[in-house]
Amino acid sequence: MRILVVEDEEAIAKGLRFNFEREGYQVNVAGDGPTALEIYESAQPPIDLVVLDLMLPQMSGYEICRALRRLDLDIPVLALTARTLSEDKIQAFDCGVDQYMTKPFSLPELLSRVRNLLDKRRRHLDRRSVRPTEDVTRFSDVVVDFGRFELRHKEEVHALTTREQELLRYFLEHDGVVLSRARLQSEVWRDAADISSRSIDNFVMRLRRMIEDDPSSPKHLLSIRGTGYRFVSEPADSTSSSEESNEPGKT
Ligand code: CA
Repeated sequence: MRILVVEDEEAIAKGLRFNFEREGYQVNVAGDGPTALEIYESAQPPIDLVVLDLMLPQMSGYEICRALRRLDLDIPVLALTARTLSEDKIQAFDCGVDQYMTKPFSLPELLSRVRNLLDKRRRHLDRRSVRPTEDVTRFSDVVVDFGRFELRHKEEVHALTTREQELLRYFLEHDGVVLSRARLQSEVWRDAADISSRSIDNFVMRLRRMIEDDPSSPKHLLSIRGTGYRFVSEPADSTSSSEESNEPGKT
């Protein structure tokens, strides 16, 4: 299992890494929010738990947690912080933190909580993988297994996050329809009204990398200039998509 430690105090980050690795976990460390989110989105195998300091440069831990929740509703987040006020805790839980520990913390208690969250995570992933697999959709040379949160494109297999899967499902259900970013925001991110159009574009970019032969010249997930996107499961002419205004460089 892989833990992402978001902590700007090097001594603490080092101590956490040492102790987590001794428990047999893989560990990534980030000193600020943007780095943390970048690692979170690109880590393979994916991150299973985030240990999050709340007072950080650039983005606060609260903002980071909200951003994580937009990417994945299920990832466990343990806040580790010098903030002890009840309001701080409430704000953290409102942002989607699962557990909260104040510094200075007891190492055995932290390790026990981490074990607990990771056990839950493992059960959650196991349940996913034994779910019936009839929820499978195919288009072109792509197979999406919604039961397993898995997408296969030719020989490549990609794991999908909950949100990536919801977005892809929405595109599949609206084959050929022009979908504005505003519509995607309200239909796919119902519970996170503050998602930016830039983040939506990032999600589309990630889906393109999974489903397109050439993500910079998409045949399925087309950009509609000034509006949003149009998904086409079976492009009529597979050699050209000139009918659309693709802006791969911009999106
Ligand atoms: Ca800090």
